[in-house]
Amino acid sequence: MRHKLLLSGILLSFIVICVACDRTKTEKSDLSSVADNKESKISLPEGLAIIENTEEFISVTEDQTFQFNTDHQFYLSNDMDFAEGEDSYYYLQNKMYLYVFDKETQLFHILCNKPDCHHKYIPEEEITCNAILPAASGLVYYNHFLYTLLKEYSDDGKAEILCLYKISLDGAERNKVCELAKCFYSENVTEQINDETFSIWYIQHKGYLYYIYNFGTYGRSETFYNNGSNILYRIPIDGNEKPECITLLQKDGECALMYLKGIGSYVYYIQSDNSGMGDLYRLNTESMKIEKIPVTNIASEDYIVVGNTVIYKKKYDDNEFYQYHIDENTEDLYICADNETDYKVLYPEYDGKNVYIRKALPYNDYTLWKYDVVDENGQVTAQFQNYRNQNENMEFLSSLGGNTDFYFFLNLSGFLFYVDKNQLNGAELQLLEYKRSK
Ligand SMILES: [Zn+2]
Repeated sequence: MRHKLLLSGILLSFIVICVACDRTKTEKSDLSSVADNKESKISLPEGLAIIENTEEFISVTEDQTFQFNTDHQFYLSNDMDFAEGEDSYYYLQNKMYLYVFDKETQLFHILCNKPDCHHKYIPEEEITCNAILPAASGLVYYNHFLYTLLKEYSDDGKAEILCLYKISLDGAERNKVCELAKCFYSENVTEQINDETFSIWYIQHKGYLYYIYNFGTYGRSETFYNNGSNILYRIPIDGNEKPECITLLQKDGECALMYLKGIGSYVYYIQSDNSGMGDLYRLNTESMKIEKIPVTNIASEDYIVVGNTVIYKKKYDDNEFYQYHIDENTEDLYICADNETDYKVLYPEYDGKNVYIRKALPYNDYTLWKYDVVDENGQVTAQFQNYRNQNENMEFLSSLGGNTDFYFFLNLSGFLFYVDKNQLNGAELQLLEYKRSK
């Protein structure tokens, strides 16, 4: 399990934020978020009610079809640095530089149109470039705007503040929407803190940001919820309302493994233990009650939702994928993936039309992937891969996922490649390259 986590490290929706400022002792405070307090001294929020009996699930009445402008782009890789707009794709390179890829011209360029700008980040200097977002965490699209998180510090240097920013699609305007999380340093935290202690995972769905973070707790049970860590919240993406607690992550859980997915009126998530096995839940956003799907102890990384059916693995090392039909309360085998020589079967992906089974070669830490394209009848109709052989050098491309037309990859230099899914017709698909404009 662990090696899979590492393997998909660049894909995981975890954002690592370095701690750069002075860490001073936190004064005593009555805020429940202060890191020094033991759990018995902090007041935890209550999560929403959970319905365990499927017969008591409340039906939804709203349109469940995918709405481009408002819905979670579940088909994109959940590293969150890539978002789709109506005319372009947007990519946050190195958590810093915003690029735009034009769908029609297939050209890409940095998202700054200032004529004399060098588009370079220089520490300590005022940022005037439209495309520079220092230490940004992720990128989501909602209703003709982009959103990202930027880190700021309290005036006294005793806390890190993660702020939500709204950015116009030309990059020219950016406005702070709210402070999403304020996390205090303390002895308890500073003794343990390193570059990997503050991580946040989030999605946008129907105008809400669903998010969970972990600040300096190291998963230790007595500080697990401190600083508001390990609690799933949501907040209106354009409002300044207070965060709403959806649920608390169980004590031995990892927020990296919740795998949030917004589909129709639901937000799915996994309550997984630290081995990556867990139970599936969904928030019904119409009733605002949580529904426990009766598939338990599944491989958290390996689930997809296709309509009202969940597809998942029961073991990480299995080739077999099962499906559970939520409305009928039935489970059966979905597909036994072909274990081609040397390939290890990883996980399924879904773009709203086809299912893709990702497989990996054991070389180079399982970074060479092949994708089986599975049609509605469970038949493999095409394959494509994430590597190319140029001048004898194997080049591996990281996966960004894609909509029903394209599947995207990036190389280490930030160049965008894709396969055209309209050619999914038996043949092995070719990797094509976007062009960089001047
Ligand atoms: Zn610039």
